[in-house]
Parts: sequence; C-alpha cells; structure tokens
Amino acid sequence: MQGRSDRLRREGKTIVLVPTMGCFHEGHLSLMQKGRSLGDDLVVSIFVNPTQFGPGEDFEAYPRDLSRDLRLAASAGADAVLTPTPEEFYGNGFQTSVSLEQLPNHLCGLFRPGHFCGVATITTKLFHMVRPHVAIFGEKDYQQLVIIGQLVKDLNFGIQIVGAPIVREPDGLAMSSQNTYLTPQQRPAARSLYAAIQAARRLVSEGVTDPVEIVKTARSLMEVHADVQIQYISVCHPETLAELKVIQGPARLALAVTVGKARLIDNTLLTPPS
Ligand code: AMP
Repeated sequence: MQGRSDRLRREGKTIVLVPTMGCFHEGHLSLMQKGRSLGDDLVVSIFVNPTQFGPGEDFEAYPRDLSRDLRLAASAGADAVLTPTPEEFYGNGFQTSVSLEQLPNHLCGLFRPGHFCGVATITTKLFHMVRPHVAIFGEKDYQQLVIIGQLVKDLNFGIQIVGAPIVREPDGLAMSSQNTYLTPQQRPAARSLYAAIQAARRLVSEGVTDPVEIVKTARSLMEVHADVQIQYISVCHPETLAELKVIQGPARLALAVTVGKARLIDNTLLTPPS
C-alpha cells in the first residue's frame, strides 16, 4: 500500500481513503461516490477492527460479506480495496495505542469504554499505510468524525477529513449494518429515532432553547415502543460534544438506543432561528 501510494503521489495524484468495516449499504457507497469526486485514486479499506469492540459487543457475529463488498466497491469506482486480517494488522507483538483525553468522555464513549481508542489507533494505522490526501467519514458516526478531525489536527497528519451526510432508508431510519439485526416487528421502534430527530428539529426551529424540553420530547416518542432501551439522548456542542444548558447557536442532537440485538445511533444538526 505504501509503495503504491508513494508512486501515485510522485505522479501528482490525489489519494482518497474511505475506511469501513464492510457489509456495504447505500451509506458506505455514498462515501465512495464522494471520494471518487474528490481525488484521482480511491482506496476503500474493509476491516472489522477487533479493538473497537468491547466486552459483550459481538465482534464474531458482526455481519461480513467480502465478495459482495468487493463487487460493490468496484462498481462505486474504488481503485484499490484493502482487506487485511486481524493477524496481519495486530500480529508481531503490536502494543501501541492512540487515545484522546476529552472527546471520548461523551455520548457513545461513555457506553463503549475503549471504543474510540480502538478507532483512533486503527485510523492512525490506516492513514500511515494508505497515505491519503483526503479521508471521508460519515456524519452517522458523529463522535467518530469529530474525534478523527481532532486526531489529525493534534498529530499533524496533513490529511483533509471530509464528513458525508447520513443516508437514510425511505422511512427515515439511518442505514447501518446494525439494521440487519432488526426483525420486522422491531422496525416501528427503530423508526422512532427519526421521529425524535424530526420533533427536535421542529422544536428548535420554533424557538425552543431548553435542551431538557427537547430531550423529554425525544424520549417520549421513543419510549412508547417497548422494544427501545435508551442509552442516551444528548443536546451537545458540535465541536466539544459537551452537554449544552441552552441552545444559542448550532447544536447537535445525538442519541443511542438498543432495539433487540441492534444498537442504533443517530444525530442531527439543530439550528435555532436567526
Ligand atoms: P462502518 O462500516 O459502520 O464502520 O462505517 C464506515 C463509514 O461509513 C463510517 O465513516 C460511517 O460513518 C459511514 N456510514 C455508516 N452508515 C452511514 C450512513 N447511513 N450514512 C452515511 N455514512 C454512513
């Protein structure tokens, strides 16, 4: 990978990386399409990273379909697909990790200890292997996007981090590999995340500035479904991710729930009227 990238760089080519864990859906493909438009060479990585799964989060059961993914990546215009094994990536006495001090202490980080250390470490490794000019991450994993932006700034990677909008199913449910775990009976419960997001956007656009009121409304829309177990609903600062006491400018609503075996996350920008 490094030799290939060095050659392309010498030729003046712009390299774009889209890191993924595979099991592609339209969300992943939208990142690749964006990547295609931002550079000359599109590299997609597929790696179910064991170090970002915590105890009780089933690394083994994570959905995988490499031959389908390779087909889809090719049709989305990928020039190279990097598909390492855990042994290749973490063999040879691997012992280094990259961690951030503040940003993981919010939102998903509170429920998934060690997760963002795993993410920051694998992303660092991928960045050094692929040497991209641009890397694309989905806003679906908003905390991840903010953390990678900070990582790249703190450690001077010289890589442009680009966020891509959330791709949704026609019913509003954000596309996710986790959706494969949902039964048809659980679908209305899963849809309630989007109902909560829409309600929050409406309240803020109408001038509501109290996060407590927004969280209460979001909670009530999701809690009517017996299948939904809420992990968090947070109205937070878009850059620090700290909880807001009042909405005075652009804010993020972020939420995480479990529905049966699926852990679902979603988020949206909240924009108060000017
Ligand atoms: P994953 O394979 O789940 O690690 O996701 C790989 C990349 O795709 C991450 O940057 C995600 O944020 C992004 N992604 C996942 N789901 C979506 C979606 N529904 N819309 C846009 N991007 C997504």
